[in-house]
Amino acid sequence: METRKEWKLKGNSDIKTASSFSIARVIADVKTNINLSDERPVIPLSIGDPSIFPCFRTPQVAQDAVVDALTSAKFNGCAPKGGLVQARRSVAEYLSCNLPYKLSPDDVYVTSGAKQAIEIVLTALRRPDANILLPKPGYPAYEALSVINRLQVRHFDLLQEKDWEVDLNGLEAVADDNTVAMVIINPGNPCGNVFTQDHLKKIAETARRLGILVIADEAYGHLTFGSNPFVPMGVFGNIAPVLTLGSISKRWMVPGWRVGWIARSDPHGIFEEQGIVECIKRSLNANSDAATFMQAALPQILEKTTDDFYVKTINILKKDADMCYERLKEIPCFTCLKRPQGSLFFMVKLDMSRLQGINDDMEFCSKLAKEESVILLPGFVLRMENWVRVTFGIEPSALEDGLARIKAFCLRHASKC
Ligand SMILES: *Cc1c(COP(=O)(O)O)cnc(C)c1O
Repeated sequence: METRKEWKLKGNSDIKTASSFSIARVIADVKTNINLSDERPVIPLSIGDPSIFPCFRTPQVAQDAVVDALTSAKFNGCAPKGGLVQARRSVAEYLSCNLPYKLSPDDVYVTSGAKQAIEIVLTALRRPDANILLPKPGYPAYEALSVINRLQVRHFDLLQEKDWEVDLNGLEAVADDNTVAMVIINPGNPCGNVFTQDHLKKIAETARRLGILVIADEAYGHLTFGSNPFVPMGVFGNIAPVLTLGSISKRWMVPGWRVGWIARSDPHGIFEEQGIVECIKRSLNANSDAATFMQAALPQILEKTTDDFYVKTINILKKDADMCYERLKEIPCFTCLKRPQGSLFFMVKLDMSRLQGINDDMEFCSKLAKEESVILLPGFVLRMENWVRVTFGIEPSALEDGLARIKAFCLRHASKC
């Protein structure tokens, strides 16, 4: 008789661990509670994808840029690794507007969104025993991709009472000789905070003391509407070298277009000297590229979008953020410390003692989905148990509806004390 071996298809256990950091997976779990006989529309206050709302439609020039690039038939082939030179140049110019020195096209690599930029950078930095410092709360893709890359993770806190600034003393305490980088997300996801210039400088000085680089996730760059203006971390690249990650997903409201970048803000050439540039290039070589016609559209998107689009977007987001803050802070079971100043999100703390029959953040979100068809992100996936992340970047009338339903839900479940 023919002998056969057992099937040896076990799958990757790391990917299982990584998926415990998946926002999409947790939201899918929350959504299973939705009552299909509720005729009201579902209000998605969980993920930041405003593109589904007409008021956040990307500008015509951006659409035309993509159509023009596609119909020219010049961009049907492969692009060079690192991206089309015109795309790299346009990103360098776009970012240089806010820097005290000029980036060159060689300082920029075009990626398939900021998410792939994270992946490329983490792969480039990985070596045995290396660890990376991540903010808590933060963006779980960093945890997931660190697990997949076998890069050890250590967390530093963002201090809620200090407007979510980095706990720099705590950060220095968790760093050691194997620490290679720290990540900051500014404007902040999930906290909606915007770091001051002064704080960014202190971050750079801390990184310099530790001899590590700063990964500055600026996916929400320029999406600010409070008193702190957006200052890119690259401004302090002369103190500690910075890898800036960005994309058109959020500012242009097109997360499905999948174009982003990595930019080196490193006037002293530390990355070159330390071999990081070579590692980033190799990491790019091992990865896929952004679609060539999308790369070709990038110069027009970055250069031709006019201020009226940016202003309109910011005005809606500011109105949304203010409404969200004002309404939620009136509800007894929530603590909202500060009005969000940027990005599309903020964090709200639940006071469980003021709620009856609800024991944690997941249960709160599940029951809310079931009774009111409103979706919030439970904080546990961001390592913030009994907090929720609220996305306010939606059509204002839908937000108003969602906030009224949240209020009704909280009043209905308020503990009788
Ligand atoms: C959305 C997001 C990204 C990924 O953006 P894409 O360009 O769509 O890949 C990266 N970082 C943060 C903090 C984000 O919120």
